[in-house]
Amino acid sequence: MKWSVLAIVALLVAASRTASAETTFPLHIAVAREGSDRIVDREWLEEQLATANRLFVPFGTRFRWVLDKDLPEPHGEMHTRPQRTALSKLTSEHVIDIFVVRALEDVDEPGRMRMGVCWTGNAGKRYVILSRTAATSVLAHELGHYFGNPHSAVTNNVMSYSRDGGDVFFDEAQARTIKAFTSRFLKEKTLVPVSASPAS
Ligand SMILES: [Zn+2]
Repeated sequence: MKWSVLAIVALLVAASRTASAETTFPLHIAVAREGSDRIVDREWLEEQLATANRLFVPFGTRFRWVLDKDLPEPHGEMHTRPQRTALSKLTSEHVIDIFVVRALEDVDEPGRMRMGVCWTGNAGKRYVILSRTAATSVLAHELGHYFGNPHSAVTNNVMSYSRDGGDVFFDEAQARTIKAFTSRFLKEKTLVPVSASPAS
């Protein structure tokens, strides 16, 4: 009898270890308003998240919204470096902050609009800014930067600007980088995972 209880406990421990091979990182999302309306709806956000998860989960890294709030003015439009950096004060420790804005202008090429950026703010704090015009895989692309990847020139690579309508993908070297950054974020407690769950 005692042995079987121990065996069950051992099985449960083994099962929880298997589950924890996947790390779920928390995202805080803040969405700008235009008048009384949010500039993007829940469906838009879920599509960005689903695309990011489809691309990252094979490497053991998942994302989940844990907080969804409005982005207060004057932070709804980004035209300059100081405006991007000013978002630092709206960020939280141990999570990835995502800001969705009405307009995101390139800071090196004024007049050129961007769909997203992974920005380094005060004290080295990194976060993601998405434009309302962002294509579905832009969150995945910016998280690709967050997890250590530079741009790629390969068509349909997540980290490329070149798309022909085919499936987007990370290559094996990028997968290794994502896994290495996941381990580093856990070790250094830059990010603290949320408890494992199959949801979203
Ligand atoms: Zn990029």
